[in-house]
Amino acid sequence: MAVDTILHNAKIATNGVPSFVEAIAITAGKISAGGTNEEILQLRGPGTEVIDGNRRTVIPGLNDSHMHPIRGGLNYNMELRWDGVPSLADALRMLKEQAARTPAPQWVRVVGGWTEFQFAERRMPTLDEINAVSPDTPVFVLHLYDRALLNRAALRAVGYTKDTPDPPAGEIQRDKRGNPTGILIAKPNAYILYSTLFNGPKLSRPDQLNSSRLFFRELNRFGITSAVDAGGGFQNYPDDYEVVNELHQKGELSVRLAYNLYPQKAKQELPDFERWTKMTKPGEGDDFYRVNGAGEMLVASAADFEDMLQPRPDMAPVMESELKAVVQYLAENRWPFRMHATYNETISRALDVYEEVNREIPFEGLHWFFDHCETITDRNIERIKALGGGIAVQNRMAFQGEYFVERYGAKQAKRTPPIRRMLEMGVPVGAGTDATRVSSYNPFLSLYWLVTGKTVGGGELISGRKPVRPRESARAVYGRE
Ligand SMILES: [Zn+2]
Repeated sequence: MAVDTILHNAKIATNGVPSFVEAIAITAGKISAGGTNEEILQLRGPGTEVIDGNRRTVIPGLNDSHMHPIRGGLNYNMELRWDGVPSLADALRMLKEQAARTPAPQWVRVVGGWTEFQFAERRMPTLDEINAVSPDTPVFVLHLYDRALLNRAALRAVGYTKDTPDPPAGEIQRDKRGNPTGILIAKPNAYILYSTLFNGPKLSRPDQLNSSRLFFRELNRFGITSAVDAGGGFQNYPDDYEVVNELHQKGELSVRLAYNLYPQKAKQELPDFERWTKMTKPGEGDDFYRVNGAGEMLVASAADFEDMLQPRPDMAPVMESELKAVVQYLAENRWPFRMHATYNETISRALDVYEEVNREIPFEGLHWFFDHCETITDRNIERIKALGGGIAVQNRMAFQGEYFVERYGAKQAKRTPPIRRMLEMGVPVGAGTDATRVSSYNPFLSLYWLVTGKTVGGGELISGRKPVRPRESARAVYGRE
């Protein structure tokens, strides 16, 4: 077949042997040959496009097996990103500029993807600093999934007063007279954070299309060519998928997407899956955009929030019965599934359920895996292996490692998560970021963490040496150690 494209004069990583070649040929969307410049240029035909790589390094497109690009795209143009910003002074300057160009009733939103430890000052912004740079425009600053800072204008916009009750496992921090200070704390349920954010004005449909297009281009900028969307809070199927559907139909998707379906209401999960399995099926779509299966949330009673500033949550006693009903239904309908599980204790209980269901409805090659698994033990890795499952890991510890060491110690942090053990035990392992909130969408931060075990703040987790953690930030925010 005539070669469509030749890329030559480059250092092209092959994922095989040899590990680099000078040139490749592309035919019908696939790499059809690799070799020396001379060998490949001989394949040139009259219609072949020839690209000079100018001796640059070329890597395969990166796949992020766990992130939230669909929700990320719908909100990208409303967000100010602090990913990789080196100092709080810079971050506050950006906030001030953004407030100046943000029209009412829009908010200024910094929605995760940064950590206080990336800043030279190694601390959180204070409410006074945020109110000073934006006295009138509402500002919502989310730090991972542990807390949010709202300026006075944002408190007015969401209507939180001293009479507003705290949601379950969340806290509206109050001053001595009971008035909200502006700090919202997940304890550890992040519902208080994303339900408050959900009050913000939405983009119009054309703006959502544009925002998603730009976000996917932003991912391309980092070498991301595909991603698996893990669903998410306030990402309703099918309504919130219409924009990405339209981009797909128009051939304007620049990132290949597979997506999992995530139920939104606690105790309504099984009816949601029953409805969805009648609307679509795994694999529906094409190479560019398709259904992947269920998750990352299967039942709310099994969702153990990864907030290392708070003690590990114990899952409710109903977890097993609710999870069993859903997994049984998915196995019966041969729907692949993934489940969010940070802690080994949650994983043990989920595996009890999976093993029970498997005895009744054999999984037999049905694709399933756990996401995260930060504190998983070897015993549970073995159980996953025995059930033919996999694990997807992300660099959440690169953003929370300092908190984790404070709570669980440097020794435990050395094997959090135990990726080398997973690989040694022959379990399929995928990597990613879990972006855009509890981590940055920059895949190189995740690759750097995978290789070095270092946090974004420079802490060395794998070495076991205790990363430096400022005390003043906790005292400043919480008024206590
Ligand atoms: Zn998750």
